[in-house]
Amino acid sequence: RVKEEGKNSFQFFKQEMNDSVSRKSRLATGLRKGLEQGEFFLQYQPQIDIKTERIIGVEALIRWEHPEWGIVSPADFIPVAEETGIIVQLGEYVLHTACRQNKAWQDAGLPPFRVAVNISARQFSQSNLAATVSQALDQSGLDPKYLELELTESIIQGASSAVTAMKELKSMGLHLSIDDFGTGYSSLSYLKLFPIDTLKIDQYFTRNIQADTKDAALVDTIIRMAHNLELNVIAEGVETDEQLAFLRQRHCDQAQGYYFNKPLLPADIERLYRLPVDAEAPV
Ligand code: C2E
Ligand code: MG
Ligand code: MG
Ligand code: MG
Repeated sequence: RVKEEGKNSFQFFKQEMNDSVSRKSRLATGLRKGLEQGEFFLQYQPQIDIKTERIIGVEALIRWEHPEWGIVSPADFIPVAEETGIIVQLGEYVLHTACRQNKAWQDAGLPPFRVAVNISARQFSQSNLAATVSQALDQSGLDPKYLELELTESIIQGASSAVTAMKELKSMGLHLSIDDFGTGYSSLSYLKLFPIDTLKIDQYFTRNIQADTKDAALVDTIIRMAHNLELNVIAEGVETDEQLAFLRQRHCDQAQGYYFNKPLLPADIERLYRLPVDAEAPV
């Protein structure tokens, strides 16, 4: 009996493993094909200055619409893209598209703002990231000060080489931020070594500001710490009036979240700027 059960559970395990392996390889094949077929596009989520309530930047977020599977979430495909190395081509697509789009907005007369691009750990550890970034800047004509790269704490594993790579990027004149700050279990000492401009408070903390006094204390502390280190701080995932009021009272610099805007297509970003003008125009 024991033997039988053991056999069954082994087969079950093997079956499950096959499923996840084939799921991964189907995703990987789909990703490669999707890149060729142009199935990827970007949405842009505004980042708002809390004092003036003006847009100071947008975060580029990748979207994949597969012809059969429909919209696939980045939470599902980014890890597979990382594991298979496809993230490198995908990341190039995102950098080039985001830079070109931001330059197009500026050329169309929108007030200039930064575009933030997510860089995964694998992409960051590629030796040619700086070359890819400078190519995207050159080809688009975007001023580097209007590009921000969002890095996560997970890149900090290779600390000393990370500092060198970040310094090279900083020297190009762009902005660097730490995404999902506070979720990475890393030592705080990196904050004094890294040439970064901004901390992005993870949406998990923002979400719990009301419900959990300890999360509120953490958010308050992260804002103070950022300011003491002369860093800019932005809260992600702001959904309510109360969250915004809390952040404003604690002098958080910026906010991003559904309370202001969901991630939007380029035309909808442009509409945000035309609306007030249209409202004043004579009927
Ligand atoms: P992230 O960089 O932390 O991006 C923020 C995520 O929170 C986005 O999810 C965004 O749509 C979502 N979000 C924004 N405001 C709110 C809110 O008020 N409430 C809630 N509940 N969610 C909000 P998304 O677009 O699904 O992206 C998930 C993650 O996938 C991103 O997290 C980022 O780590 C990764 N990702 C997205 N695009 C790229 C990319 O181009 N390259 C790389 N390497 N990673 C990307
Ligand atoms: Mg991000
Ligand atoms: Mg984040
Ligand atoms: Mg996140």
